[in-house]
Amino acid sequence: MITTYPPWSYSGSRAAIFDDCLRKYYYHYYGSHNGWKLETAEPDQVQTYRLKQLSNLYLVFGNLAHQMCESVIRSWDKERKVPEASFLYQKMRELLNQAYKESQDVTGWHLRPKYQTMLSEIYYDEDDKLKDRISSIKSRMQTVVDKLYHTRTWKEVESGAAHIMEIEKWDHMILHDTRVYVKMDVLYRNEQGHIVIVDWKTGKENDFTDQLYLYALYVHEHYNVPYEHIEMRVEYLLTGECETYQATQQDIDKVSASTLRYIEEMKSCLADDYYNRPKDISFFTPMPSRRVCGECNFREICSSRAV
Ligand code: SF4
Repeated sequence: MITTYPPWSYSGSRAAIFDDCLRKYYYHYYGSHNGWKLETAEPDQVQTYRLKQLSNLYLVFGNLAHQMCESVIRSWDKERKVPEASFLYQKMRELLNQAYKESQDVTGWHLRPKYQTMLSEIYYDEDDKLKDRISSIKSRMQTVVDKLYHTRTWKEVESGAAHIMEIEKWDHMILHDTRVYVKMDVLYRNEQGHIVIVDWKTGKENDFTDQLYLYALYVHEHYNVPYEHIEMRVEYLLTGECETYQATQQDIDKVSASTLRYIEEMKSCLADDYYNRPKDISFFTPMPSRRVCGECNFREICSSRAV
């Protein structure tokens, strides 16, 4: 069968998988390709594609929290109305329960893996992990809902000081002749005319500056705004902490250079970079570790797994 791949592009999530394990990167971007064509694809493509669609409780929770923030900001922007925190909490609970229930139906998921949730904790029978995560997420849910309405971003939006420009919108820029995808949680102009890039985080505090500098580069190019008028803000919904950054040209040059290194390394894995056709799977060396393999969707088909 002749396989055509989508044109090659770069994103932060692509880089994260590349760093985790090269074999995982192969399964995710190449081994799974065409696996949605149940009639014509090879069985291993179908299986790899299904595994690629596995989710987990933290991912579902993170997505729900982002959807909650998105719907609050959209609803305020459109109608100047927002739901009560108790309604948001109830809604998140329902959707989390729905993900749990859907995960009991393996047959349905086999047929529609992209449209039905399958939690990896259930798929891989990890009962202890499942219990621990359910209890930790229950308390996190209440916290993120409570914290949202106390964030600096919400206060600025509610006071009318923010002119919303983008909410969860995928876009791209061309960097090093490559399409680089970006999606900012919220982008707005404040009363001083400065642009604020908001990133909601539902996990632990960390260094997210590389991702933010790429966003700043996009805003600088797309909206023609000088870096000194761009504020990058991380809102940690679990702690209520808020961090702000300002990029210098030096920061941007640094992130641009590291993106180029990723692009070159990723392209060196291709037999044909015009058609985005990969080298043989053996080129994608497995990088097993308990930490990464323990969360890897492809454990079932990977003989190098460390768990
Ligand atoms: S199971 Fe481990 S070695 Fe195998 S693809 Fe996943 S992360 Fe890589």
